[in-house]
Amino acid sequence: MPSEAKLRELRARLLEICDLGWAGAALSWDQATYMPAGGAPARARQIALLGRLEHERLTDPALGRLLDALAPYAEEHEDEDARLIAVARRDFDKAIKVSASYVKRANALGAASYSAWRIARPEDDFASMRPYLEQSLELTREYVEFFAPYRHMIDPLIDDVDQGLTCADIHALFDELRRELVPLVDVICNRPPADDRCLHGEFAQRSQLEFGLKVATDFGYDLERGRLDTTPHPFCTKFSDADVRITTRTYANELSQSLFSILHETGHALYEQGIAPELSGTPLGKGTSVGVHESQSRLWENVVGRSRNFWQHYYPKLQQDFPQLGKTPPESFYRAINMVARSPIRTDADEVTYNLHIILRFDLEIDLLEGRLAVKDLPEAWRARYQSDLAITPPDDRDGCLQDVHWYSGGYSGGYSGGVGGAFHSYAIGNILAAQFYAAALRAHPDIPNEIRAGEFTTLRNWLTQNLYRHGRKLKPAEIVARATGEPMTIKPYMAYLRSKYGELYRL
Ligand code: ZN
Repeated sequence: MPSEAKLRELRARLLEICDLGWAGAALSWDQATYMPAGGAPARARQIALLGRLEHERLTDPALGRLLDALAPYAEEHEDEDARLIAVARRDFDKAIKVSASYVKRANALGAASYSAWRIARPEDDFASMRPYLEQSLELTREYVEFFAPYRHMIDPLIDDVDQGLTCADIHALFDELRRELVPLVDVICNRPPADDRCLHGEFAQRSQLEFGLKVATDFGYDLERGRLDTTPHPFCTKFSDADVRITTRTYANELSQSLFSILHETGHALYEQGIAPELSGTPLGKGTSVGVHESQSRLWENVVGRSRNFWQHYYPKLQQDFPQLGKTPPESFYRAINMVARSPIRTDADEVTYNLHIILRFDLEIDLLEGRLAVKDLPEAWRARYQSDLAITPPDDRDGCLQDVHWYSGGYSGGYSGGVGGAFHSYAIGNILAAQFYAAALRAHPDIPNEIRAGEFTTLRNWLTQNLYRHGRKLKPAEIVARATGEPMTIKPYMAYLRSKYGELYRL
């Protein structure tokens, strides 16, 4: 068979794998939005079936033989097909290492643990989660053995989500970040605290959704290929390159959470909608890594959406939609949405303290994986780290080590997901890269802040599309960062961004 025919067969097989994943995503989206509660048992079965079929196709020996036959083509060429073969090979090689028995047990434990966590967290009952977490840790150790030899146990988990990064890289990055952040948080928290009372009151939920969606479409979110719905936990999902959806959660008594969730998920959606259409239906047709993906949600939510320039344009409109803000000056509103405070809850954290929540979770994951920390001692270790890094002690485990779903909902879907290890670091990478990408965009187009002040985002979005979005997985994360910004990942632009913005806000 000539290469042309083999490539056609490869693309046909990869499209079916994508379609199975997208069909599963459509069922999951419906489950989270409109499905009546009675549909749950059948839905869980159907989602599991599609996942199993996807894994079977991904590990089909015939796909392996086809990739073998195409290997010489990939070596001789440097075109898009060569890249497709290489990425499909990587996915195949990783998937066949994982045993079917592991996939079944990991998903069963993840589902049981998640159900238990939903009851245990509100009841502040860590003891009932301890056996789940211990089993989950055992399964994680089993998973990493599929990828031996490795330098550190967490490396295979990191490689699944952020290809090319290792434990050593992240340690070096986080050590530097922590050294800079702890004193900065100290100084800010010694200043008079900001006041965020203007964000609390009565806010029509429908108006919140309309305002958020208006900003999302101004950013460039294409509603011909997307839509917004409400769910208990906001997310972005995709059923094809022409159907990328976002969700949010509104509160009748709080204004900012729903809006910034929409802006966050819009960032993810802009990335997916911006991938070159010809990559769709192949493993190249998605974001290059979780960390780079998160950089886009953070860039649009924080670097743009919490900036003074942005609100110069949008605050009068917000006041029109919510007349109760009529007496709140723009500056008070700007300070309220950027209030820095030491909180025990990661998802409530501001831009300055957020990464400290991540770094301590990463360190605890390492200690758990290496066996230096026993699961039974986790609540105590958690409190100790919050005390040393953020100078607060969480009131209970509910708002302590039970707060995040990640460790209690592990599983396997085309890669290790959730569970203990590799669950949190990408959020911090996202913050760091958001500042680095934005600084590079400003160097190329110094006029971007003026455009944002006019509610205009085309130059920024086009730069991101050209430099990040359109490439999908054709370029590796490190290649994207180096080409777009001219240097490897660094915390310098991020720290400069924080010092400039918060130095001014808190008059440091
Ligand atoms: Zn995100």
